[in-house]
Amino acid sequence: MKLTYEPVIGLEIHGELLTNSKMFCSCSADYASAPEPNVNICPVCTGLPGALPVANKKATELAALVGLALNCSINKHNTFARKNYFYPDLPKGYQISQYELPIAERGWMDVTSPLTPLLLGEGLGAREQLRVRVRRVHIEEDTAKLSHEKNYALVDFNRAGVPLLEIVSEPDMRTVEAALDYTTKIRAILRYLGVNSGDMEKGVLRFEANVSVRPVGSEELRTRTEIKNLNSFRALTRAAQYEIERQIKIYEAGGEVIQETLGWDDARGVTTSQRSKEDAHDYRYFPEPDLPPLKLSDAWIDSIRKRLPELPEAKTSRFISDFGLTPSEARFLTSELSLANYFEAVLSKSKSSAKAVHSWIAGELMRTLNESNLSIDELTLSPESFAKLIDMTTNKIISGNSAKVVFNEMVKAGGDPEQIVKEKNLAQVSDENLIQEIVTKILDDNPSEIEKYHAGKETLLQWFVGQAARATKGKADPALTKELMLKGLEERRK
Ligand code: ADP
Ligand code: MG
Ligand code: ZN
Repeated sequence: MKLTYEPVIGLEIHGELLTNSKMFCSCSADYASAPEPNVNICPVCTGLPGALPVANKKATELAALVGLALNCSINKHNTFARKNYFYPDLPKGYQISQYELPIAERGWMDVTSPLTPLLLGEGLGAREQLRVRVRRVHIEEDTAKLSHEKNYALVDFNRAGVPLLEIVSEPDMRTVEAALDYTTKIRAILRYLGVNSGDMEKGVLRFEANVSVRPVGSEELRTRTEIKNLNSFRALTRAAQYEIERQIKIYEAGGEVIQETLGWDDARGVTTSQRSKEDAHDYRYFPEPDLPPLKLSDAWIDSIRKRLPELPEAKTSRFISDFGLTPSEARFLTSELSLANYFEAVLSKSKSSAKAVHSWIAGELMRTLNESNLSIDELTLSPESFAKLIDMTTNKIISGNSAKVVFNEMVKAGGDPEQIVKEKNLAQVSDENLIQEIVTKILDDNPSEIEKYHAGKETLLQWFVGQAARATKGKADPALTKELMLKGLEERRK
């Protein structure tokens, strides 16, 4: 009989913190806008002997904020440590990190996962709610940037020493989908908190997946591999899936998985061996002698807690209960804080339902943003004008099609929707006598179509309604048009 395996996944997330200066010196942390390599540097971040680090207060605040958002306890006494290893992007020969006492520990994050963990990609069945434990959140520093040329490598220290946060989970995930939900939710939280832009293509947020597999029913933790530097959700998904299948094959062939650090070759779709995985003792961690412990008071922690905004989960629940949205509508609107804020701003100015506002945002607005490659913050369409437009369709002053024309005009050139409707003569025709005239004319002009309709080709109703819409350039009230058309067709039955 074939054994069935279940994956075990633990994640490490590295995110740069959005501070003005670096973690241990006053150099600018904004390496992305540096005019050239090696300009935002000083003796501290280039590792000159005798230079002394000073911890960045703002980075400490942001780290604590993330810890609290992930339901962690904050360590009132936490310490920095040296993690020793040599690499050309690390001039000191060690990275300053936190080891025994990180700033935050023992949190959690709720995720959803398919119930069947056995076969990947079969995520369509029943789902379960799963609490993933967050083991720790700690502060460290980013490395310099290496560019590998043909016969040499270049090093740029503008990024060296930029504050970096590491968020480590317990090995609690059993499906790739759970890992995807976990990382998606953490990214959203980091963006809500304003501590990280979440721009994965810029490398400010990176994932590492630790993967092992074990027979279903077993509680043991088997040897795992660690896949480094996953720079997109797609890479995370594909790499984890590949690694799970690779390990299952090894066990089924009677082999053993070896503990190692892997890279992900996106083009070939395979994991590649980088080095045998070092254990903690290989780094010779020891307390950083140049930095005092961080001592945080209860009052300070409380003041940080007060800065926590309403987070995505809470906002989603509120949107469902207060506005009557479905979970998926609410989740869509709360996926980005700017989107949620825009939605609420429009809704507060509008007399239409939350559903109507949602469908305009999810439809026309998203289409426009995607086409123009703009973010919602760059949009000049004011919530007031948008609300007015939505209300004009709700009140049948203009048809849905005309509303789209007005919407495009407002996005392009701004302006007041009522004004645009007047200028473009788009007001909906709801005058029954007028519509009746048009309907009668169309019916009189098309006797053979009427015959076919009466012979059973009922889909022709839509065609008749379409003719009326054309005759009025889309301005006739569609419901009324349909009603009159149907009536006319019935009256003409012999
Ligand atoms: P370190 O990286 O310092 O060696 P750990 O090995 O304890 O620390 O954990 C690193 C990450 O690997 C954590 O996210 C943890 O959840 C995950 N992990 C540990 N053991 C396993 C395992 N057997 N299978 C999958 N993930 C694991
Ligand atoms: Mg690691
Ligand atoms: Zn510096």
